[in-house]
Amino acid sequence: MFDKQVLQELSTIVGKQHVLTQPEDLVAYSYDGTFTEQRPEAVVRPNTTEQVSQVMQVACRRDIKVVPRGMASGLAAGSIPLEDSIVLDLCRMNRILEIDELNFTTTVEAGVITQDLADAVARKGFFYPPDPSSIKQSTLGGNAACNAGGPRCLKYGVTGDYVLGLTVVLADGRVLRTGGKAIKNVSGYNLTQLFVGSEGTLGVITELVLKLISLPKAARTAKAVFPRLADASRCVNSILTAGITPATIELMDETTIATIEEAMHLGLPLDVEAMLIIEADGMDEKAVVDEIETIAAICHKTGARDVEVARNEQERTALWSARRSISPSLARRAPNKLGEDISVPRSAIPDAVAAIKEISRKHQIPIAIFGHAGDGNLHPNILFDKRDPDQVARTHKAAADLFRVAVQLGGTLSGEHGVGTLKKPYLESDIGPIAMDVMRSVRRALDPRGILNPGKILD
Ligand SMILES: Cc1cc2nc3c(=O)[nH]c(=O)nc-3n(C[C@H](O)[C@H](O)[C@H](O)COP(=O)(O)OP(=O)(O)OC[C@H]3O[C@@H](n4cnc5c(N)ncnc54)[C@H](O)[C@@H]3O)c2cc1C
Repeated sequence: MFDKQVLQELSTIVGKQHVLTQPEDLVAYSYDGTFTEQRPEAVVRPNTTEQVSQVMQVACRRDIKVVPRGMASGLAAGSIPLEDSIVLDLCRMNRILEIDELNFTTTVEAGVITQDLADAVARKGFFYPPDPSSIKQSTLGGNAACNAGGPRCLKYGVTGDYVLGLTVVLADGRVLRTGGKAIKNVSGYNLTQLFVGSEGTLGVITELVLKLISLPKAARTAKAVFPRLADASRCVNSILTAGITPATIELMDETTIATIEEAMHLGLPLDVEAMLIIEADGMDEKAVVDEIETIAAICHKTGARDVEVARNEQERTALWSARRSISPSLARRAPNKLGEDISVPRSAIPDAVAAIKEISRKHQIPIAIFGHAGDGNLHPNILFDKRDPDQVARTHKAAADLFRVAVQLGGTLSGEHGVGTLKKPYLESDIGPIAMDVMRSVRRALDPRGILNPGKILD
């Protein structure tokens, strides 16, 4: 238990009403997007970088563990508190500080919701492309801390590709500013990208300078169903080797299609092994129409049974509805899911899918497979009930097998969700002992007392 003086000091910094210790508040901060949970000792809700700095100074002086948190939509248990920790909730810091139209940049606080920024810049004709499917919930600080991806990263890249500069509060409370609005910057180590993907273990991100691009003027979407999944995979490679880079190529396997159909009754075919949702976009409407037509022709040629191209915005929304329905549909099929995000070389997708189906059979546990086929990032979701210890044990064994398969196929444990605690036991099998050692050294250098998000990524 923290002594009264600690709580008093924290209250003086952020205001009494922003230090939460009541059980009902702590319960609300004990979850993230996974099935794990743990209550913290207290929640602190700062409003400025200066307040974050002062909170970290108290934590450092008193050896208190601090768990940074955005909207807790994370899927690696990275923002799950420790019992004797403070949760540092960044959501009050939700101001868009600047949209610099000349330099194509925006400066934001860490707690801005991703969709809010995308909407704000779109109103001025700009595009912020990173689009995790949690875009309406996640924060930009959380996106940078996890280096979030999303459907559009095939063409546009991941969050890290848009982070030009950061304000980071270090474990001892010092405020570090990295990068800035300059596009080119090689002055010293790339500290900005060191903090991208560090999952709250190296510093607390409080502000971000983000790159913007011009808003595409046109988009066209197609849906293609494939009796054979191997053909869907061949189709993805044929599109890309034809020199076309669609904005998105999303894959859903037969288990995912059946789960969506059962929950949503969208009229999806139940006798096919795979479905692709492909979107082309760009500045020139005619070029985009030509591109989607070429894509549709490639789908037919590589074994698609039906290809539907949306003719207007309403039809486009309808085609995307299947993809958007995945999460709520899975929730109806089983009370809990372990949403993994292995990433493999694109050419290995058929082997990865076959291996995942075998893992599902071996452990007798349903696994729905969907994901960003264009960049080889698959989301095998293991469906289970955490009240049943046997199902939990089989889920963990299946996850271990998934990671082994990803690494064997030349891929990696995580394409976008991060390591958190859930993938920590498997990290060394992916990156090797020397990389683990280097990461430990970096962490020790920045946080010698080990107070920032301990137990996440590395011990
Ligand atoms: C339905 C659903 C769909 C999703 N789809 C995608 C997807 O398509 N692509 C994808 O990449 N992810 C996806 N995610 C995962 C998740 O939304 C992302 O990882 C997101 O970036 C987390 O943002 P957050 O604000 O919720 O962070 P949190 O969950 O609160 O935190 C995540 C990690 O970042 C750290 N952190 C948070 N804020 C800060 C900060 N300001 N400074 C330092 N560390 C910080 C935390 O300590 C934790 O380790 C999905 C999640 C859900 C529930």
